[in-house]
Amino acid sequence: MNCENIFTKIIKKKIKSKIIYQNKKVTAFEDANPKSPIHILIVPNKIIKSINKINKKNKNIIGTMAYTAIKIAKKFNFYKQGYRIVINCNKYGGQTIPHLHMHLLGGKILGKFC
Ligand code: AMP
Repeated sequence: MNCENIFTKIIKKKIKSKIIYQNKKVTAFEDANPKSPIHILIVPNKIIKSINKINKKNKNIIGTMAYTAIKIAKKFNFYKQGYRIVINCNKYGGQTIPHLHMHLLGGKILGKFC
């Protein structure tokens, strides 16, 4: 079943957001509550609830999301400085929206995470 969530509404442009890139497979838009000067979310257009739902059939989407993140970092010139990519999973991982998403964070020196 393909349930609507806030991200599907953004993908379908049913609600306002700052989309910076979109193709047939993924959409990238600015995070509404940025945790760093650059904070972009990259999501699959088709709902996948979390990274736990990645399987043999759909695993290429992770590569597409990561490649999109790298392309954005190059385009907006923070590729050389560096950046962080994060995927939260479920409650303990801090995932609040049940639609797989990759956080692309940059624009400052980020605190050591692990
Ligand atoms: P997570 O905690 O990993 O599930 O991340 C969800 C992210 O979605 C958070 O960083 C929120 O700030 C962001 N977010 C929630 N609603 C919106 C929205 N309408 N537009 C853009 N980002 C959003």
